[in-house]
Amino acid sequence: MSLAPGQQQRYARHLALPQIGEAGQRKLLAGRVLVIGLGGLGSPAALYLAAAGVGCLGLADPDVVEWSNLQRQILHFTPDLGRPKTESAADKIRALNPDVRLRLHAGRFDRAHAAAMLREYDFVVDATDHFATKYFIAEACHAAGRAYAHAGIAAFAGEVMTVLPGHTACYRCLFDGPPPPDPASPLGLLGAVPGVIGCIQAAEAVKYLLGAGELLVNRLLEFDALAMTFREIPVSRNPACPLCGRPDSRD
Ligand SMILES: [Zn+2]
Repeated sequence: MSLAPGQQQRYARHLALPQIGEAGQRKLLAGRVLVIGLGGLGSPAALYLAAAGVGCLGLADPDVVEWSNLQRQILHFTPDLGRPKTESAADKIRALNPDVRLRLHAGRFDRAHAAAMLREYDFVVDATDHFATKYFIAEACHAAGRAYAHAGIAAFAGEVMTVLPGHTACYRCLFDGPPPPDPASPLGLLGAVPGVIGCIQAAEAVKYLLGAGELLVNRLLEFDALAMTFREIPVSRNPACPLCGRPDSRD
């Protein structure tokens, strides 16, 4: 099926790229990405995925919009204070691109629902800010065999890596043992840092759906906004990884 005239115009800059073109755009329109966390990382990630015409976006977040979110969580505006983040995000994304079908998950991403939820998606963006949740997402994506983009942010720094479970180094290959305790008081954070990192996660999701380019696998990309540097750290699968190092899950 060819693209409608409106879509030809909307995605003209994609259609002009040999790595995308009309066939690639149709892949994106058939793609399904779950964004877990609609905060500093999830805002730019979800907006760019929606603008790119990813046909199905899952938006997961149990929280409501608070004052302290507005400094960086660009999906949410001042009049959204007190609203569920899923609803606030859905309004913006519907206005941006009606091609995108939305699934809203306002409950916690927990063990009871993870497996069924992940089956509905091709790629997962971990845009959460809790260590325990990141461990759980890595575990759930490993069990479901779903590719995901990990990210972490603090102060002026961020890190990001894509994981193809069972094939490339996973989050737990890097961070062994129980999750570190989440800090009691909120950490300071420059708003543009999750902006940069969330955009990288969106680019990885798009490349994964297209099958284009080199994914950010087996290397952790570190961003330092104060020094304004990117540093790439090569990583490899850890034979002792509690997730993907087990003999029964090795391929
Ligand atoms: Zn691993």
